[in-house]
Amino acid sequence: MKKPGSGGWEGVGLLAASYHDSGRRAVERAVRVLLSGGSALDAVEQGVAEVENEPSNESVGLGGLPNWLGEVELDAGIMDGDTLRACGVAVVKRVKNPIKLARRCLDELPHALIVGDAATKLAEALGLEVVKDSRAPPEALERRKKLEREVAEASSGLTRYYSKIFRAASKVWHDTIGVIAVDAKGSVAAGTSTSGVAFKFPGRVADSAIAGAGFYADSRYGAAICTGVGEVAIRAVAAFRAVLLLSQGYGPQEAAEAVVEAAAEIAALDGERYNLGVVVATKRDVGAAALNWESFLYVYWLGGEVKVEKAPYVKLT
Ligand code: ASP
Repeated sequence: MKKPGSGGWEGVGLLAASYHDSGRRAVERAVRVLLSGGSALDAVEQGVAEVENEPSNESVGLGGLPNWLGEVELDAGIMDGDTLRACGVAVVKRVKNPIKLARRCLDELPHALIVGDAATKLAEALGLEVVKDSRAPPEALERRKKLEREVAEASSGLTRYYSKIFRAASKVWHDTIGVIAVDAKGSVAAGTSTSGVAFKFPGRVADSAIAGAGFYADSRYGAAICTGVGEVAIRAVAAFRAVLLLSQGYGPQEAAEAVVEAAAEIAALDGERYNLGVVVATKRDVGAAALNWESFLYVYWLGGEVKVEKAPYVKLT
């Protein structure tokens, strides 16, 4: 077996998964990092941070829609495909750039996942930007009220009530920014960031903080990033599954489609119409597929222009 980091170099390429304009901005930023000699990890961190810094983005960063109690909780993660080190940060409040916190964790700590208030304290200790208030603005809370009216009749027990909220919310407001980068040394990195499914259960963790679920990178084979209902990506071990398939000789498009098939099986078992978007890249090629997401767009750059494409494979259930 090849050692991580020893893959043949085929060119600089990177991409982002997103259905809004943010994906393009993330990729453009990451391209600048790579072209000025930055590493794949730097490109991923800065590309993702670009989107976390957009105050109007409703599904990434502190502008994201809050949990059911009105607090914004963020999840992010980053992985180095050379060392197979990864760190996720989950249920993080008040931290402007969770991806930067995940990167510092990756570089400086032996841990793979740090959660909750301790993650915020770590961000403060590391001198990262932390704001004072985790409450979402009043407009976001107004939207929650609307949803509350929709689910009001499901009053028989907390779990039943919450399942209904999740079902309603997961159809409407969520997305993740994910970036995969390959640098001039042939190192591959991947990272993700989200405020999660809007009005989620407090403390709920997205795939975007969990290496192997929402993101995975191995410089021998490539990387994968996911967006969509995180519970499905976690249960399908979606990003790791994609990279495992690359290691077995699948191309990125075939691997993305196989992950969507696995997610569809989970959706069928649950009798739910979950959505998921998967982007998979090797050092020379990229593929994407989606479940129940008809216009799933992904952004990529393989030198030349940044391109936005519709996933060529969409499975509807
Ligand atoms: N994966 C994120 C979550 O589960 C949201 C999304 O990408 O749509 O919260």
